[in-house]
Amino acid sequence: MAEAFDYVIVGNSAAGLQALNTLRKHTTEASVAIIDREDLPAYSRVITPYFVGGKTSRDNLFLVDHDYYRRAGATILFGRNVVALDAENRQLELDDGSRVTFGKLLLATGAEARKLSIASDRSSVLRHMTDAEKLVELMQAAESITAIGAGLVSLPLLSHAPASAEKHLVVGSNRILSRMVDAESSELLEARFAKQGLQIHKQDDIVAIEEGDRLQLQLASGGCLVSDMLIVGKGVQPNSALARQAGLQVNYGILIDDYCRTSHADIYAAGDSAEGKDFITGEPVIQGNWMTAVEQGENAALNMLAMDCAYAGSLKNNITEVFGVDVAAIGECLTDSAQTVRTHDPSTGRFRKVFLNDQQQVIGAILIGETNDSGLYYHWIRNQMIFPGKEVLSGTNTYASFQKRMA
Ligand SMILES: Cc1cc2nc3c(=O)[nH]c(=O)nc-3n(C[C@H](O)[C@H](O)[C@H](O)COP(=O)(O)OP(=O)(O)OC[C@H]3O[C@@H](n4cnc5c(N)ncnc54)[C@H](O)[C@@H]3O)c2cc1C
Repeated sequence: MAEAFDYVIVGNSAAGLQALNTLRKHTTEASVAIIDREDLPAYSRVITPYFVGGKTSRDNLFLVDHDYYRRAGATILFGRNVVALDAENRQLELDDGSRVTFGKLLLATGAEARKLSIASDRSSVLRHMTDAEKLVELMQAAESITAIGAGLVSLPLLSHAPASAEKHLVVGSNRILSRMVDAESSELLEARFAKQGLQIHKQDDIVAIEEGDRLQLQLASGGCLVSDMLIVGKGVQPNSALARQAGLQVNYGILIDDYCRTSHADIYAAGDSAEGKDFITGEPVIQGNWMTAVEQGENAALNMLAMDCAYAGSLKNNITEVFGVDVAAIGECLTDSAQTVRTHDPSTGRFRKVFLNDQQQVIGAILIGETNDSGLYYHWIRNQMIFPGKEVLSGTNTYASFQKRMA
């Protein structure tokens, strides 16, 4: 006999937790189950690099505790893997052979980190708590750390690693953070990080690992890096296999419409597993950020409740601090074709660049060195405001001063 629920959420992270909150805000009577193969209350993956670097405790990662789910009246099936989805019969099969039926389903299954084809016991990706725990152990004894891939896993991890460790970054392309910022910003950041001791090996790859007292990492360029551990930050791939096997429309991620609905009327998807409309380009995209997962989780839940709410589209929104430098990238800020306006003060390192479309509306912004007012730039882009002139980029904007300048 299968257990039956009105609403089932697969994935207990940014999107799934927000969906549960939203369902419970509007209905206390419906039955809700949340399933995850990790046997933990929801935690923030975003701050796991701080935990690995010893800057915060494991306890601080958790967003809620186990009791939260009891109070929300949700059945939790943690430590259980969903292995099959039968969309026609509205049924999930779990790894212990049990079955769960649903009225409406949310696939908030996120993504997995890409691994290297060559492996070592002293290498790890960072996506799950078990990865973080392994990296904590490896980092404790490491005098030299190498990371491959120059995105939001490798760079924060190297940045929060002990200052005494030698740090190498191997990058396939010719610049760092190429999915987050434009080439000019990459160059500025590379110079800042290099001053902090980061050694960047561009247009290179690790082709072999020789084990020994220390790892010998053979580079495609012919060199060799001797390190005590290897961080693998080669991007992610969406967990879309369940949807694909069930016959739902899947591109790279699970395709969703403006209501976070998949090609099946009662199955929704949100977050890193879902491919939905980008706010600026209108094209389907997996944004891969926490805020999009939360927004889509909320939108999916509202529509599962038949509240008929369209989502305007997702925005890139990455705000981080790496090697002591604050960086924010919001909206469309990779495009070469957009008109840009910038300010840069080399004495302080403060850099701001906005990207405009043909109608002079702000479509993206990169802030380096000071990101306190990044929320206002987000607001600016979301509201498709017209750029008033370069002077708005100088000084820190408060909401009041910003409104005055934009008036
Ligand atoms: C190290 C790191 C740093 C990051 N830094 C930033 C940052 O600075 N800013 C930012 O915005 N974003 C950042 N991100 C990305 C952000 O964490 C993700 O965008 C966000 O976690 C996506 O949430 P999600 O709910 O879609 O999926 P996920 O967080 O991936 O969670 C999906 C859940 O589904 C579960 N699951 C999957 N398949 C199954 C199955 N078949 N059965 C049962 N359970 C299943 C998984 O166990 C997992 O718990 C970072 C991510 C990492 C790993």
